[in-house]
Amino acid sequence: MITRSLQEIETMCSGTGLKDKYSDIVIKGVCTDSRNIIHGQLFIPLIGENFNGHDFITMAIGKGAVACIWSKDETMPDLDFPFILVEDTTKALQELAKSYRSQLNTKVIGITGSNGKTSTKDILAGLLKTQYKTHKTLGNFNNYIGLPLTILSMDEDTEMAVLEMGMDNFGQIELLTSIARPDAAVITNIGEAHLEDLKTRENIAKAKLEILKGLKPNDFFLYYGDESLLKKEMNNISIDYNIKTFGNDSSNDYQPEILFVNETGDSFYLKEPKSPEFFIPMLGEHQVLNATAAIAVARYFGISYENIEKGLLNIEKTGMRNELIKGNNITILNDSYKSNPSSVLVALNTMYFMEGYDQKIVVLGDMQGLGDDEINMHKEIGLKIDSSKIDYVFTYGPLSKHIAESAVLNFGKDKVYSFESLDHKNKLIEKIKEVIKPNSLILTKASRALAMEEVVESLIGS
Ligand code: ATP
Ligand code: MG
Repeated sequence: MITRSLQEIETMCSGTGLKDKYSDIVIKGVCTDSRNIIHGQLFIPLIGENFNGHDFITMAIGKGAVACIWSKDETMPDLDFPFILVEDTTKALQELAKSYRSQLNTKVIGITGSNGKTSTKDILAGLLKTQYKTHKTLGNFNNYIGLPLTILSMDEDTEMAVLEMGMDNFGQIELLTSIARPDAAVITNIGEAHLEDLKTRENIAKAKLEILKGLKPNDFFLYYGDESLLKKEMNNISIDYNIKTFGNDSSNDYQPEILFVNETGDSFYLKEPKSPEFFIPMLGEHQVLNATAAIAVARYFGISYENIEKGLLNIEKTGMRNELIKGNNITILNDSYKSNPSSVLVALNTMYFMEGYDQKIVVLGDMQGLGDDEINMHKEIGLKIDSSKIDYVFTYGPLSKHIAESAVLNFGKDKVYSFESLDHKNKLIEKIKEVIKPNSLILTKASRALAMEEVVESLIGS
């Protein structure tokens, strides 16, 4: 984590007003949440929609904060305590992270994309740590607050940092890449998430490509070559990066070949460039693509095939994504964290190949944020659920009603149940319980706001 004197911190975040007597105090790390302060940290109060961190200064000091950044617009508390004044505390956090990053010799890898960022980040960090001191984004801390905090939590002697970069509109990846200044960048894919704000998939591709603004000429840039939109947009990029692609198509620089996929993970190798066989203990075919991207970057940074093989077996995963949860008589494929058409298709595919179950049920909630074409996108999902591989379809929410309506065409009325009102979560749970047989496999997937994990908890608990 960052350790600097307050005098240095004041310069790094372009602050003012620190009293001379406090300049030599050294902070050990930063924290923006007064409840989680650890002794020695710098408190950076942020102003959110529902709270103002400045209101919690007394708690922060009580918990052991040794200094505090303070917005000039907020009333100064009557305390003799080390304060550094800034125009905007969120910007100060970002400036501090940017300055700290520029002082480190760490190689930074930035990962963006619609799906698979966290998985790819976890896999890549697992590979890099076989040879380097490696830091990675914790959980999903991938935005304008989480990314600076991730950087500031990095030790000075970190050799490699794998940073996830999320966005929901233009300008956000540009901000993150300007703070992180990556030495290598990855775009995992372009999906449909955030269509509501960005309107077209072209715009989503453009927004992700902002990541290049943080790279220097000759830096490594890897993207999903099966996505024609990315290829097209790349034609407009004039700077000479070290550009490589990955994907299933034979035109890609890094191409995986799957040997087998089962509940324990995926066995695969790279056809191009030819590699030994690998096993990745993560569920779903899509993890092979994420692993291919991670291997390409790891090879660029000199990781041996031997260490890649070992690293793949030791990945520290992030929860709620594609988790298999075993209950008394049932198994749940819990993917309740987010939902959009491409990630639903990936999850359905995972359901299809899982063997040894007497019944397979999918419970799909609304995919939010898809924009004008949202109804059609839900209808298409309903048509794509394979009635020869799935026994029952349950939908939850006003949009996913359209999944149910089209699924009926293949499944028939008695295999599809739609719960349109979000107030009917209990009815949904009761109906699922009614049809469940022992040894069932159940997929749960919906956008975050639907809190589908409550369905999971209820099914597992029963
Ligand atoms: P978030 O935007 O929430 O941070 P993310 O991009 O970090 O998501 P992951 O958390 O790695 O993505 O995966 C989320 C879900 O996306 C997975 O559970 C899976 O269903 C799907 N997914 C993961 N990798 C891919 C991929 N390569 N292609 C398509 N879908 C994928
Ligand atoms: Mg993520």
